[in-house]
Amino acid sequence: MMDPRRLQELEARGSADLMEIFSSVQGEGPRAGERHLFVRTAHCDLDCVWCDTPLCHRTPTRARVSLPQFAAVEEVATPVPVETISAWIGAALRFLPHRAVSFTGGEPLLHPWLIRAAAGTVRGHGSRVLLETDGTMPERMKLVRPAVDIVSMDWKLSSATGRPPLDAEHEAFLGEAAGLERIVKLVLTRECTLEDVRHVARRVAAVAPDAELILQPVTPLRGIEAPPAAELLHFQSEALGIHAKVRVLPQLHRVLALP
Ligand code: SF4
Repeated sequence: MMDPRRLQELEARGSADLMEIFSSVQGEGPRAGERHLFVRTAHCDLDCVWCDTPLCHRTPTRARVSLPQFAAVEEVATPVPVETISAWIGAALRFLPHRAVSFTGGEPLLHPWLIRAAAGTVRGHGSRVLLETDGTMPERMKLVRPAVDIVSMDWKLSSATGRPPLDAEHEAFLGEAAGLERIVKLVLTRECTLEDVRHVARRVAAVAPDAELILQPVTPLRGIEAPPAAELLHFQSEALGIHAKVRVLPQLHRVLALP
């Protein structure tokens, strides 16, 4: 779990617990297929059953740097100063156009100072800032809002987090992101019910009617399975009766075996 004291120290030092920075194809949501630069930081405020980045829960000592301007993958000591990360981003965007720089994790809003520091470099190169978040910290969304262009928020069900519903947090979060491009992603496992999908569609239609709602079948791992195809179709049909913009999309990067 996250260590608030460590995060305070990192902010004071102007550094980040970087896990990796790499260039690849965006694999999720309506921007799937675009070339993005991914900046993955460690730590998370949740501990999801199907977490696909379990290493984010440890404090890293090395970060993987795989950038188009480098001939080979490099490993560097972390924490990394935010100026260094911004310089890597600028050099990567100069070398190869990327439609967006995706701040991901872990939960990237645990490093809001990094997002704010890097946004000028991203936008200065004609790219956009995309925040991939679990959507539980609306007060932090407010802090970074001027530095963000696109928000891709997971709607976390209790079956994913093992916690009481996070509806109030998600709704407040989407409220703070109003006016930005908003994407809401609901990861579906076999445990998810039609009522779960209807509930999320109702909440999104009420608080973020412009948002794309992505029904994303989980990429099977550790015995966690996605719903069968017929059920996905049924879920989408029901959700479309509530919210106008609902897509079913798998994780494209997993299909293509990309990072
Ligand atoms: S919010 Fe994301 S990174 Fe955090 S535990 Fe859940 S799946 Fe893992």
